[in-house]
Amino acid sequence: ERLVGPAADREDQAVEAALRPKDLGEFIGQEKVREQLDLVLRAARARGATADHVLLSGAPGLGKTTLSMIIAAEMGAPIRITSGPAIQHAGDLAAILSSLQEGEVLFLDEIHRMSRPAEEMLYMAMEDFRVDVIVGKGPGATAIPLELPPFTLVGATTRAGLLPPPLRDRFGFTAHMEFYEPHELERVVHRSANLLDVGIEPDGAAEIAGRSRGTPRIANRLLRRVRDYAQVKADGLITREIAAAALAVYEVDARGLDRLDRAVLEALLKLFGGGPVGLSTLAVAVGEERETVEEVAEPFLVREGLLARTPRGRVGTPAAWAHLGLTPPHAAPG
Ligand code: ATP
Repeated sequence: ERLVGPAADREDQAVEAALRPKDLGEFIGQEKVREQLDLVLRAARARGATADHVLLSGAPGLGKTTLSMIIAAEMGAPIRITSGPAIQHAGDLAAILSSLQEGEVLFLDEIHRMSRPAEEMLYMAMEDFRVDVIVGKGPGATAIPLELPPFTLVGATTRAGLLPPPLRDRFGFTAHMEFYEPHELERVVHRSANLLDVGIEPDGAAEIAGRSRGTPRIANRLLRRVRDYAQVKADGLITREIAAAALAVYEVDARGLDRLDRAVLEALLKLFGGGPVGLSTLAVAVGEERETVEEVAEPFLVREGLLARTPRGRVGTPAAWAHLGLTPPHAAPG
């Protein structure tokens, strides 16, 4: 597991429950999403109605699960959590839907990975609160209509564009979650340190925030590693120096790049003069699979403006040369 990987690992899962904001007021950042969602939920409450279906899109670890729990809490409703890959057959979905209570929030993570038949069943369930359960097989099969209590579907996906339009259109409210600004992550770090009873100076929080790749989950994870270091090597208080020294041990640099990211950049700049170089050649140079370079390292490097994917190959940007403290070769005269 990479320390800067966006997906939840086991340790994250164990502590995340304790660190989750419980209501919209505690949820940091995402101002627009919060403001809009607040209106949607208040209006539904005022009408005594179930909230509209909500689609949340955004990278892993930005708070989609947290927000779905907040929606349930704000509506005073229970929540059921499942995911697209867990729903392979329409029957799986029918079983879940038919056991929902009135007003319940159904959180469907990775909704784009649901099977096609389940997806089609969901259309009708979202729109009419009804499903047709097919009983039997072949010519004798019959569809038994089943009324459902009104519920709120909260779907989560990494990209709204991955959803078929008929599904996307059935959500009353769609929110896109952006990566967090460093000052927002500083607040996340302070809040978590407080909950974990860890002493931290503002500079220490800023140091962790700057290395967290815009992602609260990563910020919380780095905080835990820095806390270990502060306890073992110092008096427990997290200062800027302690945070920097701890994250140097874990090879997470000032900008949040880890060893793999730096290996890719270094190969690109030092071996290939900044490119352009083909993905396969670059992958061989760092001793990794093509897919690892493309899917694990590159997205963040591209987002940070350190690497560009061009039709002729990968290119290191001026920011990449600066970040690694290297001097780009002079352009050929004439
Ligand atoms: P995935 O798609 O991988 O399930 P996610 O987008 O659902 O990720 P969450 O599990 O909701 O992400 O959040 C990850 C961690 O980050 C949680 O511990 C949560 O407490 C924290 N977190 C996320 N967003 C915020 C926020 N806005 N303020 C404070 N903490 C946050």
